[in-house]
Amino acid sequence: MKSMDEFISVEAARAAVLSAVPLQPVRRMALGEAQGHTLSEAVLSHDNIPPFDNSAMDGYAVRAADLAVLPATLRVIEDVPAGSVPQKKVGPGTCTRIMTGAPFPAGADAVAPVEWTAENGDSVRFHRCPAPGQHVRAAGADVCEGAEVFAPGRVVTPPVVGMLATLGYAEVAVRVPPRVAVIATGDELVPAAKRPGPGQIRNSNGPALAAQVRSAGGDAMAPVVARDNPVSTHRTIEAALAADVLVFSGGVSVGKYDFVKPVLEELGMEMHFWKVRQRPGKPLAFGMLRGKPVFGLPGNPVSSAMCFEQYVRPALARMLGRTEVVRPRHPAILDAPVRKVAGLHYFARGIASFDDEGRIRVRGTGAQGSNIYSSVVRANCILHLPAPLEHPDAGTPVEIEWLAW
Ligand code: AMP
Ligand code: MG
Repeated sequence: MKSMDEFISVEAARAAVLSAVPLQPVRRMALGEAQGHTLSEAVLSHDNIPPFDNSAMDGYAVRAADLAVLPATLRVIEDVPAGSVPQKKVGPGTCTRIMTGAPFPAGADAVAPVEWTAENGDSVRFHRCPAPGQHVRAAGADVCEGAEVFAPGRVVTPPVVGMLATLGYAEVAVRVPPRVAVIATGDELVPAAKRPGPGQIRNSNGPALAAQVRSAGGDAMAPVVARDNPVSTHRTIEAALAADVLVFSGGVSVGKYDFVKPVLEELGMEMHFWKVRQRPGKPLAFGMLRGKPVFGLPGNPVSSAMCFEQYVRPALARMLGRTEVVRPRHPAILDAPVRKVAGLHYFARGIASFDDEGRIRVRGTGAQGSNIYSSVVRANCILHLPAPLEHPDAGTPVEIEWLAW
């Protein structure tokens, strides 16, 4: 076991978080409510999709050989709208009028769209001939019976909803979203509705972190504020233990008024780390208290936002059993030099775009101080600058992760 006072790398910190957090329980949920939730079971198809051969066009089911010489005339033996079933077999010299999606009749081998024909009473004249199989949709062409369509860990997006409905899943098993208590600490904080008095500022981290929790699939409780004294901090933590995850902003540094860490430790929290070789967010605490992950994020709004994205979002994804736990990173080229010390991994806020060769080019969003929240608002990506880099020049290969909130 490492000494608690040692700095650890970003990678080690994230690995420690991901291996410590528990998996959420499962519950069944109506499909109509499942959007944004995470499937906990594999989804198998019990059917072929489409379930039967059917027509891709409004037109006539024919035997293509009957139309070898054009124009040709065939007798209509039956009318098959969508939702009905053909009763007759298409024989030589005959055809079936068929609508898009209607089951394809026996005996026929192609569909001639209505645009290729002229109807005249019981018969129809064709001026074009479909190739065998043309405009016929085969059973199972979309999904085969027995196929695993979704693996556990898949997030229910709108197309997943559509596919689940197609497969007949009116209910699905999902992971219960973790309830997350967001606790902003500070004597200086007032709510957004209040005009700050002398020395006060509005509490932005509380609402912002709750919004981040929701965008990460968590169930954010109404954010609360703990004042900078042990009693208020203690009382707030006790109440927050109703949640599955605790996220603090501020109060985790080494200042005289930073009570979060000592109070958590007094309550029995097992601290996993609290110093990470990163910027922003050098003081970032993580531990487990009564089986619940606890994050102490720095109070500076930029640090709070970035550390949430780097640690809390992946933790929630892991608790939800998601397949994708961290956002993918993409190679990019630095467009302008960046001031950076060696030894710390930077999560800079970036603006990235594609150049004419299809490469991603990225630059910082301007002033990168951990209090300059505009740098987060303007960013479309997080620009990763690994620890070894020092004052990288324009042209340096780097990595970005797109920010899609
Ligand atoms: P701390 O980590 O508590 O030392 O706070 C670092 C800086 O972040 C200070 O300037 C705080 O005023 C600011 N800060 C702390 N909490 C918040 C918050 N909830 N909203 C906005 N700023 C905050
Ligand atoms: Mg503070």
